[in-house]
Amino acid sequence: MSQYDCFAADYPLTFWKKPLCGFSLPKGWETLLSELCFQIEQHIRYLPSFRGESLPEEKKFRVVQVKSKFGGLRFYVNDEDDYIAGLITMAEALSYHICEDCGATAEKYINDDNWTMTLCESCANKRNENTSHSRFTKVSKGDKDG
Ligand SMILES: [Zn+2]
Repeated sequence: MSQYDCFAADYPLTFWKKPLCGFSLPKGWETLLSELCFQIEQHIRYLPSFRGESLPEEKKFRVVQVKSKFGGLRFYVNDEDDYIAGLITMAEALSYHICEDCGATAEKYINDDNWTMTLCESCANKRNENTSHSRFTKVSKGDKDG
């Protein structure tokens, strides 16, 4: 069973249709996405505006894309209310503290090709062991915490 098929099986209202623009989820964020989808699923279950049987397909709530960008989760949907928007904002914010590879507490790393990832030290070292170029280094804090 593919990663997407597992999510579609667990959250059939959220993933009744495969995201049009792709489903690409780092392994370390599976728990995070699972929590997000669980909360969305509970929320839309009885909302006629998102789930109504009489709604045309294109109006029904669906996920458009899941991916990692600049070290953060991106979760795009076709429609949202304030509650869903808040859930997504929270999940995307949390993703910056969760290792994309293993799910441990993490920090922002960047490699020589300017590729940003959220990694724990151990996973960053592992990635660096497997490459002779473009090593990941930790981005020093500052902008956000200083
Ligand atoms: Zn890790």
